[in-house]
Amino acid sequence: MTLANGHPYLAIPGPSVIPDRVQRAMHRGSPNIYEGGLLELVDSLWPDLRMLAGTTGHVAAYIANGHGGWEAANANLFSRGDKALVLACGQFGHSWANSAREMGIEVEVLDFGKASPADPDRLEAALRADTQGRIKAVLTTHVDTATTIRNDIPALRRAIDAAGHSALFAVDCIASMGCDEFRMDDWGVDVTVAASQKGLMTPPGMAFVWFSESARARCGVGDLATPYWRWGPRAEAEEFWQLWDGTAPTTHLYGLREALTMLVHEEGMARVWHRHEVLAGAVWAAFDAWGAGNPAIAMNVGRPEWRGRSVTAARLGAPDATRLRQWCEQRAGVTLGIGLGMAASTDPAYHGFLRVAHMGHVNAHMTLGALAVMEAGLTALGIAHGPGALDAAAKIVATGAGD
Ligand SMILES: *Cc1c(COP(=O)(O)O)cnc(C)c1O
Repeated sequence: MTLANGHPYLAIPGPSVIPDRVQRAMHRGSPNIYEGGLLELVDSLWPDLRMLAGTTGHVAAYIANGHGGWEAANANLFSRGDKALVLACGQFGHSWANSAREMGIEVEVLDFGKASPADPDRLEAALRADTQGRIKAVLTTHVDTATTIRNDIPALRRAIDAAGHSALFAVDCIASMGCDEFRMDDWGVDVTVAASQKGLMTPPGMAFVWFSESARARCGVGDLATPYWRWGPRAEAEEFWQLWDGTAPTTHLYGLREALTMLVHEEGMARVWHRHEVLAGAVWAAFDAWGAGNPAIAMNVGRPEWRGRSVTAARLGAPDATRLRQWCEQRAGVTLGIGLGMAASTDPAYHGFLRVAHMGHVNAHMTLGALAVMEAGLTALGIAHGPGALDAAAKIVATGAGD
């Protein structure tokens, strides 16, 4: 038997839930890409994309997923043989490092493991050791979606400044943009990368690279900046086709327009960040309660200030995480995320990890519903767990929902 027939909920960390309004906005035939309404709609996107990232700087948009966004940043920041310093806190940091290495960039990785954020002191020491100033940019993740570690971006910026190093600072916000507080200009970030399918609530297919004036002045003209990836013509397009170096992602743009209206204009970034903060807190409270009755159940990141607000990685002991995921999907219509980068998929330990997304178009009933389904699954499967998880989660929501 199953209770899964009803509206399914995809609670994986991307692609995220697409709002009905965004879907409806995209349900249309092809527009004229030479003149008319589409051009006006696109003009209206850039101020909102800047507001979203907290910058008055430049924006280049690409038809790409997040991996394409990484390559766009790499291609403009570096020439072949230049050096990158990558601060890795999980699989996504390492994957960005790999993409740079494969493009012929020299990469030094500072690996901070899978349970704590990048240490500003180690960053400062690595930059001080670079006496010849070879490191052109420091790359890191705001939130690594595999471990769900959140880095303290302002603290890392201060470490670069304390070292007196001229490296540019580039941050992957693919898992956090539109979910977790981010202020590109205030925090001294030179290059920010995001994609459409997570906090931006739109299908995969668009990547965005925001860049500061100093990044513009120092980058974008090297031997990796091939015509398609070069950010200058996109950010300073004189003709519409230059914005995407070819045909625009027409259908996506109507969806993005609607999503930005919802985030930037209707809800406002402060309330968007607050909503994610509260829903994350509800998930954490539930895991704390479950774990109190079974030490095998624990969140991956111990300290709340080190956790991303859009997704939570946890362990349940193998094979219970996989059993619980399957139960939730098959019996109750909630799809949880697999554990990523914690153990190889061929390793039995793989079945001890999962992730709960609370990213993008999510509200209290969705997150509380997912937690209640997980509670039911733990009970149905006979997985030991502490009591009171749903009460604890509801208390967080009751306090965070305002008057
Ligand atoms: C999802 C994600 C990526 C990769 O994005 P794709 O669209 O899958 O290529 C990179 N970095 C982070 C932090 C992500 O969450």
